[in-house]
Amino acid sequence: MSKTYLMKSRTDHQGLSALFPNELSELISQEPSFRGRQLFTWFSSGTFKFDEMKNLPAALRRSLIDRYGETACTSKVVKQQTDADGTVKLLIKLHDGLFVESVLLIDEEGRKTACISSQIGCAMGCTFCRTAELGLERNLTASEIVEQFYHLSEIAGQPSHIVFMGMGEPLANIYETARSIEIFHFSEGLNISARRITLSTCGIPDGIRFLAESLSVPIRLAVSLTSADNDLRTRLMPINSRAPLPELHEALLHYQNIRKKRITLEYVLLGGVNDSDAACRQLVQFARDLECVVNVIPWNPGAGLPYNEPSKNSTERFCSCVEHAGLRVTRRYRRGRGISGACGQLAGTGSSLHHIHPVTKLNEQI
Ligand code: SF4
Repeated sequence: MSKTYLMKSRTDHQGLSALFPNELSELISQEPSFRGRQLFTWFSSGTFKFDEMKNLPAALRRSLIDRYGETACTSKVVKQQTDADGTVKLLIKLHDGLFVESVLLIDEEGRKTACISSQIGCAMGCTFCRTAELGLERNLTASEIVEQFYHLSEIAGQPSHIVFMGMGEPLANIYETARSIEIFHFSEGLNISARRITLSTCGIPDGIRFLAESLSVPIRLAVSLTSADNDLRTRLMPINSRAPLPELHEALLHYQNIRKKRITLEYVLLGGVNDSDAACRQLVQFARDLECVVNVIPWNPGAGLPYNEPSKNSTERFCSCVEHAGLRVTRRYRRGRGISGACGQLAGTGSSLHHIHPVTKLNEQI
C-alpha cells in the first residue's frame, strides 16, 4: 500500500471505493481507526449507501452523507442488456455525465468473468476496433474501474474472474489500473486471486515492464498480437510504429523472466489479412522462445470495418499450423453476439479485440 504508484494514483475524483482501510481511516481521522476498516468491509460487500451501514454511528453516517452524498458510489447503471447465453452488458454513467460499458461473461461451466474498461474511448487507434473511433475521452479513476465490478455483481452475481479487456488500453492508464488490481486482490476485501485477473494490452513495452517489476499482484498477461509481421502489424495497430515487434518481444521475455508465467498471445484472425501460412510461420517465429498460449479469435464481422470473417477452413488451417509448430492454441468464439457483445457493438455495429467485449455508443441510445 505504500507503493509509489498507489500514491500517484490519488486524484480529486478518486472516490472512496478504491481506497484501502488505512486510507479510509485517514479520511475520517476524528474517528477510531477501525471505522475505516468497517467502511471498507461495507464497500467490499457491495454496500455503498451510508445509511445502510448500520454498524457506523448515526453521527458519522450523517457526516459522510453531508460530505459525499447518499452513496459512496460515483457511478450508476443506466442501461443493461442480457443475451440468451447469459452475457450481461451494462452502460454506466459516471460523475461527469460520461459513459462506460462493462460486460459479464458466463462460460459453459457457469464461470462468471467481469470484462472491465479502463478508459473512456482509447487513443491506440487499432483499425479493427470500434472504440478506436471514439478517440480517448479520459482515463477512468480506480474507483470507476472498481465500481464496474460491483455493478456487475449486483446485477448478475459476483464474478470469479476479471479481465481488463473492455474499453481502453489499461497500460495507458497504469496507475489507476494498478490501484484497482490491488483493491480487487486485497485479502480483506474481494480477495480475488491474481491468477483470476488478466490484463489485456495492445502491447506497450514500458507498461509490460511495470507489470513485471512493480505491480505487487502477479496477474496474468494477455497481449493482442494480431500479426507478427512488423509492417502489417503497424497497419493494423498503430502502436506498433512506436513499439515495434522486437521491442514488444523483449518486454515479454523480460516479463516472463521475472514473473515466470505463461503469456497469452491474442490473435484476431482477419480473413485474407493475417490468416495465411506465412502469417502462421511469422507468429511461430515470434513466439518461439515465449512460454505462451495462442488465443485465436476469428473476426466477428461488423458494419463499417473493412475486414472479413475468416472461413472455418482457414481458421482450422491456421490453428493447425500453429499447433503443428508445437505451440498451444485455444480458439475463442465470442459470446454475447445477441447483444452485440463485442467491442464497439452495443450500438449494433463494429467489433474489435483485444477488447472483444464492451463499449461505445450505447449512450447514443439513451
Ligand atoms: S483494441 Fe484495445 S487498444 Fe486497440 S483501440 Fe481498441 S480498445 Fe484501444
